Amino acid sequence: MNNNYLFLFTIGPVQSFIAEARKTKDLYEGSKLLSNLIDIAINEVKNQDENAEIIFPSKKIESKPNRFIAIIETNNSKDFGNKIENKVKESFMNIANRIFSENFPDKPKPINFDKQIKDFLEIYWVMQPFENNYESIYKEIEKTLGAIKNVRVFDQLEETGRKCSLCGKRNALFYKKMKKEKKPSYIQNNAIEIKKDIELNFGEGLCAVCFVKRFYENKSFPSTAAIASIDWVKKVPKDDLENYKKLFKNFDEQLYYEENLRQNYLKKYGYFLNDNELENAKNKLKEIYKKNGKPKKYYALIMLDGDNMGKWLSGEFLEDNTNLKEFHNKISESLGKYAENINEIVKEPKGKRIYAGGDDVMTFLNLDYLFDILIDLREKFPKFENLGFTIKKGMKSSASAGVVIAHYKTPLSEVLKWVRKMEKEAKEKGNRNSLAIAVLKHSGEIHKTVYKWKIENEWSVKIMKELVEQLKDEKKGFSNTFIKVLQEEFNRMEKIPEDKILEIELQRLLNRSSKIRNNKNEKEKKISEWKEKIKELYLDLVDKDNFFSFLNISDFIARED
Ligand SMILES: [Zn+2]
Repeated sequence: MNNNYLFLFTIGPVQSFIAEARKTKDLYEGSKLLSNLIDIAINEVKNQDENAEIIFPSKKIESKPNRFIAIIETNNSKDFGNKIENKVKESFMNIANRIFSENFPDKPKPINFDKQIKDFLEIYWVMQPFENNYESIYKEIEKTLGAIKNVRVFDQLEETGRKCSLCGKRNALFYKKMKKEKKPSYIQNNAIEIKKDIELNFGEGLCAVCFVKRFYENKSFPSTAAIASIDWVKKVPKDDLENYKKLFKNFDEQLYYEENLRQNYLKKYGYFLNDNELENAKNKLKEIYKKNGKPKKYYALIMLDGDNMGKWLSGEFLEDNTNLKEFHNKISESLGKYAENINEIVKEPKGKRIYAGGDDVMTFLNLDYLFDILIDLREKFPKFENLGFTIKKGMKSSASAGVVIAHYKTPLSEVLKWVRKMEKEAKEKGNRNSLAIAVLKHSGEIHKTVYKWKIENEWSVKIMKELVEQLKDEKKGFSNTFIKVLQEEFNRMEKIPEDKILEIELQRLLNRSSKIRNNKNEKEKKISEWKEKIKELYLDLVDKDNFFSFLNISDFIARED
């Protein structure tokens, strides 16, 4: 018997790495840190066995997911697994120590720093010997891993005192005072004050883990305000912007918005302007607005992931699953290419990617590019049915996406909660191969809609994009009155009674809303075109609210521009 093993290794807690975030940077750095730890683990596998074969993820994937699967050879499986686990833990501790000493070369570490770091990682791995039975062993290790995770015992670190502002779990060991305030109450005795650094907000406190996340790479990451305003910044002449930015110490993109040019806001965030300068800044910004319009206040966050990945990977859709290993290799390769594609698609100024780790993607987008990029993300998702294997009848790979359109000031944790929720709705309410969009208005009002990617062979987001264009078009488009009146009329009814009635109403209302004045033919053609499109939208809806949300979201985006 040979000594081959199938080895599945995971690092968690994933949610802590990629969900606990107050700044866009926390999100990015957390996912980067997780990816680098997986890289460290994979390198250690290669150190232990230079012939090891990594099946997932493809080495083309830059931002690694939180797990890998490999075929390795060893005489001592337990020892092999422990070595990889210890290497990751040790590396994480080294990273934490490095970041601490880079930032505080002369200070001792606060009490519990090491303990918080040590207790943080949740590493699970499973290893099983195999010869030619890849398929059954693969299923077994996945099952075993699931079982281990279910019975895990939490080594809960019960600390009293002020909690970290980011995770809310561990005690804050680093803090920044509120302006003029004393040290925050209940904070641990030897917690370290961060004075100058702009990385922390006033009054914010961080635990050791969240400190490492925020300071992991000394790179900046665009804020939500920066993402919302990229298209506008591109439009404004450079000199005008530079002259405006020069007025501030610590400029940040929130200052592109007039509502932030207030003395108490500037004070709170430490931008230091006296009253004269403030008036000057206001005037300069007004001039810029006059020439170039105002920047958008909303941006989008997208989460996309492959549907039924567990079933695809277990070979459930293969006619013959004795070649599961070859199938895995092909899937892995195709997902690697997909990740490379995404890195090409999502570039500034279009947006900023958090991760593209195989079958899942998370990215920020500027609203100007939202629709086109959504189509790209879905269209380029690999077709597992075309990888050269016989697939059970009619099965095709697909992906679902959650999209949140949020105001730049909406707390990021709230936006993250919603994007997960919407991704789930796309899979559940939309029954997969769908996308769910939510608009979180600053006023608190929320619109959400779930649609299949395609309606009658047309991309649903393309219909939305065109509708937005129509609602914006002052000469040949439509006013939003038809949406408002239609909703008023039909809101009183449980269901829209008959397609025919909808059609007659649409004809009447679109006619009233049309902005075309002098060309009767053109007007009629456009009305009949949009009557059909909106009817299709209605026929494809999940429910009436869903239909009106689609129209209202389009209207919202049109007015946001
Ligand atoms: Zn924390």
